[in-house]
Amino acid sequence: MTHYICTGGCKGVADNPGVCQAQDCPKNNQSLKECNCTDGEHGGAFEKEDDPSQAEAEK
Ligand SMILES: [Zn+2]
Ligand SMILES: [Zn+2]
Repeated sequence: MTHYICTGGCKGVADNPGVCQAQDCPKNNQSLKECNCTDGEHGGAFEKEDDPSQAEAEK
């Protein structure tokens, strides 16, 4: 089922469209990305950050 994810690094997932609620996320208050994955991997969206340096820091 369709869900909405934040790609800002907080890995936020919501059932409805909206904005990121994480205060410490780079995409706080920015629109969530629509996702239709069924495996919980979100098509690797969480791996493909807009800012590669953020992903590096995560690992
Ligand atoms: Zn976020
Ligand atoms: Zn997904």
